[in-house]
Amino acid sequence: MTINQSGWRPESGAGLPLDTALPATATGNRGLMLEEPLIFEIGSADRSGVDIEAAPAIASRLGGLERSEAIGLPGLSEQETVRHYTRLSRQNYAIDLGLFPLGSCTMKHNPRLNEKVARLPGFADIHPLQPVATVQGALAVIHELGEWLKALTGMAAVAMSPKAGAHGELCGLLSIRAALEARGDARRVILVPESAHGTNPATAAFCGYAVEDIPATPDGRVDVAALTARLGPDVAAVMITNPNTCGLFERDLKTIADAVHAAGAFVYCDGANFNAIVGRVRPGDLGVDAMHINLHKTFSTPHGGGGPGSGPVVLSEALAPFAPLPFVEKRADGSFLLVEEETAGEHHGQSFGRMVAFHGQMGMFTRALAYILSHGADGLRQVADDAVLNANYVLRSLDDLLDAPFGASGPCMHEALFSDADHGRGGLAEGFTTLDIAKGLIDEGYHPMTVYFPLVVHGAMLVEPTETESKAALDQFIMALRSVAERAKAGDPLLKGAPWHAPRRRLDETLAARKPVLTWEKPAAAQ
Ligand SMILES: *Cc1c(COP(=O)(O)O)cnc(C)c1O
Repeated sequence: MTINQSGWRPESGAGLPLDTALPATATGNRGLMLEEPLIFEIGSADRSGVDIEAAPAIASRLGGLERSEAIGLPGLSEQETVRHYTRLSRQNYAIDLGLFPLGSCTMKHNPRLNEKVARLPGFADIHPLQPVATVQGALAVIHELGEWLKALTGMAAVAMSPKAGAHGELCGLLSIRAALEARGDARRVILVPESAHGTNPATAAFCGYAVEDIPATPDGRVDVAALTARLGPDVAAVMITNPNTCGLFERDLKTIADAVHAAGAFVYCDGANFNAIVGRVRPGDLGVDAMHINLHKTFSTPHGGGGPGSGPVVLSEALAPFAPLPFVEKRADGSFLLVEEETAGEHHGQSFGRMVAFHGQMGMFTRALAYILSHGADGLRQVADDAVLNANYVLRSLDDLLDAPFGASGPCMHEALFSDADHGRGGLAEGFTTLDIAKGLIDEGYHPMTVYFPLVVHGAMLVEPTETESKAALDQFIMALRSVAERAKAGDPLLKGAPWHAPRRRLDETLAARKPVLTWEKPAAAQ
């Protein structure tokens, strides 16, 4: 007998697919899981949730530009609106509901202490255009967080304003381009390893660079010989993720950085996986010139719908003068100044410009600093240690059943990588794939891990447990994944139809990605 995440024990026979075991309901609801149409389908432009008297006839002063038809927003009462969004929210999986094993995403718990601090009125109720004298506390937070990020990475300067990891990559490459332009060097190529996150080549291409692939060695790391052979006067930078997306530490990064610098180029490090090495390795010591830090990964601020991301970028001495505006400067008297324009300051003077209107994600800065201060330097080191321990626990608990492509070459870092290959463990049954395992996990109450990434591994399954999961939570996830993987190996035909228990069955994900329907049109019959 198994126990699911909320401790409920299924009765015998409860594992049967709902569609075959149970009749359809009149409402389409299943138990207390409610179906929910679009807001346009439940509301109507003819109705209104409020009683406002018709406006008196007044002459328009819009010069004929006023709207001539109704805007078409659906009218709903307050209660209907609340229910609509609450029902939708219950169809989401969330870190506050259960373990979220997405590799590369670092879905760790968002501590409530961070939320409490971010909601303090002195931080939450201020405006970026307020006089600087009235927001000294907020500037102190931005400055102190920046100092921590510089200390933890061993870098000279930090740009706080980038609003996500990918935005940070853009900031780093624009700094590199400005540094090259300042010395009249028009290099056009950026080298990116095959295993890189898709945002790396996308950012390089967006900046107008030609992107060239660097192959990986059979042990899942950058092929140093191939990389150094490609270096030359046309190469502007190399973008390397460390630890990389195979969950492995790039041991040769210092050697690579030395060769890249000798060839007159820069090293961009994708720091999205910093969680695995924070407090243990300072990327600046490895020769990195620019690196983004995803506060929503390493420093526990919420992702996506739970709050915007934040991607500060640390910069080496060589790139510091080109950092974007604005930045916070601490004056000798202890007060803080917001530098909005080019000045010949210590690290600045040749800024490439501005990335965002204001200073970045203030609410994320307060959360990240609360996280850092509540852990302290020793606690942050423990974060990395525990993240790596948890990932190795997952790796070694499943590598008898699933192929672990780099499992033989030693421990992993913060994520465990599996493939759908055979390699002596007996592969999946004919016709079964990684996708079937992912869909089966949904029935077991888990958001699937990252699948089919990194691209260098066939049928990849990338599991990142993070340090915030307990052993009990990991054991249950491992049990669920084992059960689904065993069914995929045995060729259980019911698994091909999974998920059976979710509000929707298998969707055509390719069609949804290639031809998304982004607008709602009134059905013809109702017009
Ligand atoms: C998450 C991630 C990114 C992009 O970061 P965003 O904050 O999502 O823009 C880049 N590289 C790697 C390796 C990542 O995991």
